Amino acid sequence: MQETPKVVGIDLGTTYSLAAYVRDGRPVVVRDERGIALVPSVISFHEDGTVLVGSAAKARALADPEHTIFSVKRLMGRSLDELRREQELIPHQLVEREVEPGRKVLHVVIGGREHTPEELSAMILKEVRRRAGNPTKAVITVPAYFDDTQRQATRDAGRIAGLDVLRIVNEPTAAALAYGLDQRKQGTVAVYDLGGGTFDCSILSIQNGVFRVLSTHGDTHLGGDDFDRAIMTVVVREMGLDSTKRDPELLQHLRDAAEKTKIILSTLDSADFVLRVPSRGIDYRRTFRRAEFEELIRPWIDRSLDCCREALRDAECSPEQIDEVVLVGGSTRIPYVRQRVAEFFGKPPHTELNPDEVVALGAAIQADILAGGRRDMLLLDVVPLSLGIETFGGAVDKLIHRNSTVPAQATARYSTQFDGQTAIQINIYQGERELAKDCRKLGTFTLSGIPPMPAMMPQVDVTFLVDANGMLTVRAKEQRSGKEASVTVQPSHGLTQEEVERLVLESVEHAHEDFTARRWIELKNKAETDLRYTERALSQVGGELSREQREAVDAAIVAVQRAIQSGDVDTLHQAVAELGKATQPLAMINFNAVARAVLKDQTLEQIDAAKL
Ligand code: ADP
Ligand code: MG
Repeated sequence: MQETPKVVGIDLGTTYSLAAYVRDGRPVVVRDERGIALVPSVISFHEDGTVLVGSAAKARALADPEHTIFSVKRLMGRSLDELRREQELIPHQLVEREVEPGRKVLHVVIGGREHTPEELSAMILKEVRRRAGNPTKAVITVPAYFDDTQRQATRDAGRIAGLDVLRIVNEPTAAALAYGLDQRKQGTVAVYDLGGGTFDCSILSIQNGVFRVLSTHGDTHLGGDDFDRAIMTVVVREMGLDSTKRDPELLQHLRDAAEKTKIILSTLDSADFVLRVPSRGIDYRRTFRRAEFEELIRPWIDRSLDCCREALRDAECSPEQIDEVVLVGGSTRIPYVRQRVAEFFGKPPHTELNPDEVVALGAAIQADILAGGRRDMLLLDVVPLSLGIETFGGAVDKLIHRNSTVPAQATARYSTQFDGQTAIQINIYQGERELAKDCRKLGTFTLSGIPPMPAMMPQVDVTFLVDANGMLTVRAKEQRSGKEASVTVQPSHGLTQEEVERLVLESVEHAHEDFTARRWIELKNKAETDLRYTERALSQVGGELSREQREAVDAAIVAVQRAIQSGDVDTLHQAVAELGKATQPLAMINFNAVARAVLKDQTLEQIDAAKL
């Protein structure tokens, strides 16, 4: 290293980590004397207390797997309960210690000693930091699906490693930034990230240099390790080996040889799998052809593309609407993966940068921007849980959605429910569920002093603004009178990990039930408003209806009132539709009357707005 950067971008990966920084206006990755950038995210603990990190630790894993730990990232910000599934992959004991009443902390037991995931990640970060010449500030990347706690744990790891963490940035966003896609005025980008043990596909939108994660889908148990295992399975079968599960050392040798074979197959048409363990009398060689390997990994690639399909669906876009495709992760060096992704999106993906380096390169650009190296400020944090307000009847109208990039702003227009209503209470909620009672209340305030007007006439614009530090300000302004009120709250403050995870999980579990409840509330609101309007119109211009018309309206009113009592969504839906039909003549008469009276001093546009 010729110089020491002050700020770096760090890709803290499940299998590999690395740093990059901006030199003379260009991002470059940090390499060692041998030109190697990737640091295996592996830690090995010696009896005498020395700790090895990186390739030295990975090499030692062959001889001493029990004192070596992989995949620490999977443990970050998680509780023991959530890690049941990972336990198989992590051959170490996990324990939870109550550090203070009510607060538990996860520890990994390695060689009789206990470490928190944050401390372990900090060891990896320290090594990456050391290789970069010990900078003091960093941007660290995390997967887009990481929640608040996982992000917080990553921040903490950075702090433990002696870094001032300027920002936590989404990996797909960093990758898109590395390709300079922020230069587009607008567009949609798909980021396909196939790493060592995890896969995710994120759909991003770019608008004037600001990225937004529209959706992200993935599988935290799909990656290069599966391809290694596929090769291992073939070999184990052909060698007639068994009980490898209880032989961690042999397993490690097999894994190592399989990964080497796989990597060679990315450039050559065939590769030899070589396993030589003299201590066991093993000397084995077998040739794999690329076509055979492709056949082996096909099910996993199919699955990854299923995730892409879901991500597209969530983002409400088709493959044709994707402007650019970015490949991330060492496993996208596999030609078959590139081919399948290109076919899926119908366009060649970006491969100009090394897929295992792009995230760090993008993080470096972001770090440089934050450190003041570039003026065109980009802000890339996200809102961890959706933010919205309670609407009449208890539903939550989400203004800012989970995963929106900050600063985020959204405005929605509301009105009053009753004639002459002069105040509106704004209740602010955070969460993924549809009903206020299932979300977390963040704050409340009242907009008062609205001049008395008929229901639905006032135009109250409610604006949510989340600033770069995650502070939420909610403002309400009545447009006709100019009356205004606001409140500032801190959305993520005090939320524990369990809460965030639970909130997100619950929203998935209860999506159907919520949907019905919400539909009922909305429908009932509409029915009641329609009834009020009808009654009013009847009292004003009802005399102009024919007898049949009047009878039809009266019958429809009774049907709606009964349907509200019935509590059945479909019955009410039907009744409201009938009322709409029956009141059409009334609406025409009424509209003409109102138009005649009002047109003198109002534009048609205003009349339209008032009807909203
Ligand atoms: P992470 O999961 O930490 O994000 P990477 O993106 O660096 O890690 O991906 C690591 C995976 O990429 C490993 O499974 C590794 O074997 C695989 N890999 C690296 N280079 C190649 C290559 N040339 N061909 C196939 N797989 C590769
Ligand atoms: Mg990665």
